[in-house]
Amino acid sequence: MTQQTSLMDRFGRHVDYVRISVTDRCDLRCIYCMSEDIRFVPRSQLLTLEEIVRIGRAFVALGVTKIRITGGEPLTRKNVVKVFDQLGRVSGLKELTLTTNGTQLPRYAGALRDAGVKRINISIDSLQPDRFHAITRNGDIDKTLAGIDAAIAAGFERIKLNAVILKNRNHDEVLDLVGFAIEKRLDISFIEEMPLGIIGDHDRAEAYYSSDRILSDLREHYEIVPTTETTGGPSRYFRIAGQPTRVGFISPHSHNFCDLCNRVRLTAEGRLLLCLGQEHSVDLRRVVRANPTDDRPLRDAIVAAMQLKPKGHDFNLEAQPVIFRHMNTTGG
Ligand code: SAM
Ligand code: SF4
Repeated sequence: MTQQTSLMDRFGRHVDYVRISVTDRCDLRCIYCMSEDIRFVPRSQLLTLEEIVRIGRAFVALGVTKIRITGGEPLTRKNVVKVFDQLGRVSGLKELTLTTNGTQLPRYAGALRDAGVKRINISIDSLQPDRFHAITRNGDIDKTLAGIDAAIAAGFERIKLNAVILKNRNHDEVLDLVGFAIEKRLDISFIEEMPLGIIGDHDRAEAYYSSDRILSDLREHYEIVPTTETTGGPSRYFRIAGQPTRVGFISPHSHNFCDLCNRVRLTAEGRLLLCLGQEHSVDLRRVVRANPTDDRPLRDAIVAAMQLKPKGHDFNLEAQPVIFRHMNTTGG
């Protein structure tokens, strides 16, 4: 019998957070995330919604308290609300969250809130329609803006905007993005681009714009106050004096966060990835399908997988990517 009720890796890191990708597909084609001619996984190879819930439950039985549903664009998966409804009822799960590009939120925000989702992250890299279109290769900013408004109207406890900042693409918009977050009373995080997969658009080293440069750009206009607040993840948070808005930085290059890593990722095909920036993985789809009525082998496989979690990523913007999977496959 599986005795273990918490997940610990070889380096003493306690894993209590799982990101589950419910699809690698997306209605956008962001230039840093995927190549223009990306091929998606055949639908027949994806975990079913029931299998996703089953694996999610197994993680909670092993002490995981936070699950984020992501993708690809999670809200493009048919009937995905079932996953939220069912995971939202799992006792022991303290937080069920979502990362989305927002385009489907006008349709789903209310149902997600009803399913118990309290916090969501919405990605938006530019407020300029033409630029937004260029960065997403096909996106209509009005859809994402409508999604943000729908999320605000649905009354989530916390909405955070995510923006990947690229030099000469959108670095000059950091003030506008923070101004927008303040106006809407939302939080915002700035993310350094990670070298996952071949994207065929730009040279990632040339487009690097560090979190510290963003911070100094912001300091020219705002009084930025460091905080010790944390959401249990790699973000470093600051406050804008006199405002409720928090500004976070996810800085895989300039401030390595691997020592604090508390998470693993499940791909839409059921591959458990132990590190965002390494290939160590375990095929959980095979385990659930070989054991349709017994969860013990699944829990044992998850516990054993912790021994494979590597010490950290080796991101190097100057080198060819060593990780060939894209972020939409990884479940960012
Ligand atoms: N489609 C949803 C969205 O865009 O929010 C969820 C999936 S997306 C892969 C999750 C997050 O990863 C987004 O905030 C996106 O900007 C970020 N992301 C994608 N590719 C990235 C990369 N190469 N480096 C850093 N962040 C990336
Ligand atoms: Fe789609 Fe999100 Fe990747 Fe953009 S970052 S292409 S919205 S999965």
